[in-house]
Amino acid sequence: MPQFRAAVRGLVSYRPEKPAISPEGRSYSLAANETPFGPLPKVAQAIQEQIQGINRYPDNGGRALIAELADRFGLEPDGIVLGCGSVGVTQQLINAVAEPGDEILYAWPSFEAYPLLTRLAGAVPVAVPLRENVHDLATMAKHFTDRTRLVFVCNPNNPTGTAVGRAELEEFLGRVPPGCLVVLDEAYHEYVRNKEVPDGLSLLPGRPHLVVLRTFSKAYGLAGLRIGYAAGHPEVIGTLRKAYLPFSASSVAQAAAIAALRSGDEVRRRTDIITAERTRLTAALNAQGRRVCASEANFLWLPLGGHATDFGAHCATAGVSVRAVAGVGVRVTLGLPADNDAFLAAAASFPS
Ligand SMILES: *Cc1c(COP(=O)(O)O)cnc(C)c1O
Repeated sequence: MPQFRAAVRGLVSYRPEKPAISPEGRSYSLAANETPFGPLPKVAQAIQEQIQGINRYPDNGGRALIAELADRFGLEPDGIVLGCGSVGVTQQLINAVAEPGDEILYAWPSFEAYPLLTRLAGAVPVAVPLRENVHDLATMAKHFTDRTRLVFVCNPNNPTGTAVGRAELEEFLGRVPPGCLVVLDEAYHEYVRNKEVPDGLSLLPGRPHLVVLRTFSKAYGLAGLRIGYAAGHPEVIGTLRKAYLPFSASSVAQAAAIAALRSGDEVRRRTDIITAERTRLTAALNAQGRRVCASEANFLWLPLGGHATDFGAHCATAGVSVRAVAGVGVRVTLGLPADNDAFLAAAASFPS
């Protein structure tokens, strides 16, 4: 047998989850934070057109998409790098900064890719518990050591939906030791409505140690195409580009992302529907006597503790797939009103 690295041997295998189906054959996918809407019209058209060129390799520099992003967000093209989803960019980031044994800091629970990619790189994960379901930045700052190479701040946080405000984040950014990169993961940025929550891109000037991660997988509806990007200081981004897995942002994904960026009004209309559902569901769950965290994302978090697994199984019997984190809580993605009503009915009939 071939010899595998210890870091890889220690990982658990991926097990696909079966979608829940109700006795009547209904199925509601509220487990993966996807948008419930179909392709944006301009995206569908761009994909059709791009099919003609799929015998060719994509632009490895992603120039057209990067130019569009730079123009739209007032950034330098040299300060943007693409990736195969923002998960791909995350791997590039970790590979670029962490030697085996270096530490990578993040809050927990947070995005599951952080521990996975940290371990895969042979780096050491340092997970600091959330405080009342929110990033505890003050405690995180106490965990910096001379081996900390990267700290993730997921804002809003997956799975809790909670977000930290500008003042708190700026203070934290000021406490990061030299040599440590801060990755502000804003996968759900388009769902933020609270004005206190900063746009990470506005924090970039004067902070070369900050990188902002964004994705087309959530509000833009391109989860199946795998495209995301990071914005930061041109020198940092230039190094990241060297760690880019060649051609990993496909030509179809790049063209679709440009079309998605040009569909701003429709994206806003769709995210407004979801954020209105967020308000409605939060109130309805509270009326059922359930605690729900204040969410700035397209999902809600129910801190159910020891009931989480049972609650998830109960929803599954009603055909509603949610994300249960054993012993901690349940994350439910906000879908269309009818999907959310199916979830509310399931939640109402949960015995405790
Ligand atoms: C969904 C999600 C992403 C997006 O990952 P992609 O690889 O772009 O699909 C990134 N970060 C967080 C926290 C997420 O929840």
